[in-house]
Amino acid sequence: MGTFSFTREKINEAGLRTQLLDPTAGGYASFEGWVRNHNEGHAVRHLEYEAFEPLAIKEGERIVSEAIKRFGVEHAACVHRIGDLAIGEMAVWVGVSARHRAEAFAACRYIIDEVKHRVPIWKKEHYENGDSGWVNCERCAAPSAHHEHSRELDDHGHGHEHDAPLAAATLASIHARVGAPVPDYSRQMALKEVGAAGQAKLRASRVLVIGCGGLGVPVISYLAGAGIGRLGLVDGDRLEPSNLHRQTMYALADVGKPKAELAADRVRALNPDVDVRSYTYRLASENASDLIGQYDLVIDCTDNFSTKFLLNDCCVQLGKPVVFASVYQYEGQLQIVRPGSACLRCVWPEATRDGIVGNCAEAGVLGPVPGVFGGLQAFEAMKLLLDLPGQLSGELLVLDLLTLSISRVRTKRATSCPGHAALRAMLPESTGLEVGFDSLDHAYDAGFDIVDVREPHELQELPTPASQSRNIPLAQLLYGEPAFKPVRRTLLVCATGRRSLAAAQQLRERGLADVFSLRGGVQALETRLTRQEPV
Ligand SMILES: [Zn+2]
Repeated sequence: MGTFSFTREKINEAGLRTQLLDPTAGGYASFEGWVRNHNEGHAVRHLEYEAFEPLAIKEGERIVSEAIKRFGVEHAACVHRIGDLAIGEMAVWVGVSARHRAEAFAACRYIIDEVKHRVPIWKKEHYENGDSGWVNCERCAAPSAHHEHSRELDDHGHGHEHDAPLAAATLASIHARVGAPVPDYSRQMALKEVGAAGQAKLRASRVLVIGCGGLGVPVISYLAGAGIGRLGLVDGDRLEPSNLHRQTMYALADVGKPKAELAADRVRALNPDVDVRSYTYRLASENASDLIGQYDLVIDCTDNFSTKFLLNDCCVQLGKPVVFASVYQYEGQLQIVRPGSACLRCVWPEATRDGIVGNCAEAGVLGPVPGVFGGLQAFEAMKLLLDLPGQLSGELLVLDLLTLSISRVRTKRATSCPGHAALRAMLPESTGLEVGFDSLDHAYDAGFDIVDVREPHELQELPTPASQSRNIPLAQLLYGEPAFKPVRRTLLVCATGRRSLAAAQQLRERGLADVFSLRGGVQALETRLTRQEPV
């Protein structure tokens, strides 16, 4: 049996104790936390506890059942006071009965420690001088508070924590941190929409950030600073010098190290009370559901479409909200997919392939651009977690930072959308789509129409090396009116073969069977021609 509850009445420890009686139990341990008359040099007159109850009870019950399972104890319970408390009153009680005393001690300590760390409870202290202030639960959770609790027990000698002495290692780490500054959320809590209850919501939230790059860095920094309870960081890449102009959380000396670990270190330094977890691999269909299942909200900070669609499908199926952003040169877009809302596939029924829109490496980017969009993602995430008004919903936000123009595109849930039906495996790799030629004229002779999908300015620099060809820029080819209709077998050509392959895949899906992509693109032709290499 395990319970967690709140009470506005005085805690009746004798009555609670009888609930834990069990003829098989040989030991009983309890802990009482009392209201003391001082804190950090202030004389405290009385205090108030406030809890975000639905979440707090859920988390509290989780902790108690974890303790029962972990230590194999028979019964455990925890009761926390809320409301106004006088000096000397009991604020929290934990009781555990077990077959043996060792498990009872351990489970009792586990419960109080975890409750202090994880349960969204807020304390407002009223001081002798008439001032008052919210003391965040991180402060309760911070080692200085543990230290005070244990000292309190030592000083007065009537503590009810029948626990073994603290393990030396725990004591050392506690003492090492005594006096260390603690996170202070007063600036955001001062907003009436946030307050203590909002802070507790943030504290109880678990957010997974996919990608620790240009978008991820501001997202991670702001969410860690805001006191999100658990932050998961996913990135399979290592830091490169070319990342640093936009990924401002890292240092040149970090080059070569896994970004998820670097980011996690940074979070620990920024806010030690965030439970940060790093995953140094790429999100893939084998690991996505397990990982996402451990979080309440997902933020997409990736730069590739296959991951975005994988995330989309997985989150639609698991019913988790995702905040998506994409950046292309000076502009970007933002979309939130929630349970029941339009998803990426509703908006882009023909899944955009990697390569259609260039990533930062190919297209180029100025650092603040992903910074702006990552900031927007962090803000939308907090709006969602705090349940603030004005959340982006049913719309795709497109922001051009060069012109500072904003447009909103309505998104509608498509009844035919496969994303909602089932977790769809990513589309199979292309086979037989790519063909190689040593020259485009040979391709033409072999019966191909040549269509160069590059932009006009690219052709000015490097014209299509063919005597017979057409230029249809990619967007026009895929989305222009009237729709592209090949007369005969068509070979799509671009600079590297990546955009043309993605385009060929899309056209194939529309039923155009005779569309192919030139492997390696014009660059490969050039190389072959200038180096006189045989094919
Ligand atoms: Zn959909």
